[in-house]
Amino acid sequence: MLCQRTLAGVARTSGIGLHSGSEVHLGLHPAPADSGIRFRRSDLRPARDIPARADRVAGTRLCTTLGSGDQQVATVEHLLAALAGLGIDNAVVEVSAAEVPIMDGSAAPFVELIRQAGIVEQPAAKRCLRVLREVAVTDGDKSAAFVPFEGFHVSFTIAFEQPVFRGRAARFERDLSRAAFSAELSAARTFGFVHEVEYLRAGGLARGGSFDNAVLVDDYRILNPEGLRFQDEFVRHKALDAVGDLYLLGYNLVGAFRAVKSGHTLNHAAVSRLLATPDAWEVVTFSDAETAPLSFERAAGAAPL
Ligand SMILES: [Zn+2]
Repeated sequence: MLCQRTLAGVARTSGIGLHSGSEVHLGLHPAPADSGIRFRRSDLRPARDIPARADRVAGTRLCTTLGSGDQQVATVEHLLAALAGLGIDNAVVEVSAAEVPIMDGSAAPFVELIRQAGIVEQPAAKRCLRVLREVAVTDGDKSAAFVPFEGFHVSFTIAFEQPVFRGRAARFERDLSRAAFSAELSAARTFGFVHEVEYLRAGGLARGGSFDNAVLVDDYRILNPEGLRFQDEFVRHKALDAVGDLYLLGYNLVGAFRAVKSGHTLNHAAVSRLLATPDAWEVVTFSDAETAPLSFERAAGAAPL
């Protein structure tokens, strides 16, 4: 049986909130089978759990925000990508502020945190969402579509005009049920134009933004002294964001996601459209983990399964 997974223990870290610029404590906790991924604000009394589901999305500007009213958590996408990439079905994510810490701008520190906690299988069948027919959303020249596929295939295309993007791959595609999420995607950092960061700061956002947690570019150059981690780090990061946003389906996906110039808003629109089209998907379990179309890395250093 392909089983549900949770964490073997608790792992904690802390970092800067990208938008507030202040320190945020983060704790990952094990959770029972069938409980899903839930966020909890440890700074609020009483704290109401916020399920990581598409119908709990409160905003998609700059990042993906979950919750409602004063109970919100922003910048959930990189952590969700790490949880999706390692196939973690059930966990409680405790944060001490209204955003997940940005860490280095990628999902690699969250993969490391999950490794520290360890991964255990649970005696319950893992439920996956299998795409049965194509569902697409478009916005001008931007598009995002789910297509049937026996695996988890992601393709992402970016199309920036600025010279800094010239000569770099604008398209990334992988079957992530075959390739290692941690090696292929997790380390790709968020990026931004330096003039946009200055504009956001003037509006009270991105106060924590720096070379420590983003690749900053102007029209012509990469400004970070260390350069890029991948030649195609920009498009890889967009694919990473998509993996995180797609986990708000509430299941690991058996299917392909094809995006052109998409972002959090269109990713979320595609997820919502798919969920609202019941004849386009089904929830499936797999009696034999060996022949299941999805496989997950057993994080190095994890507790024996
Ligand atoms: Zn991102």
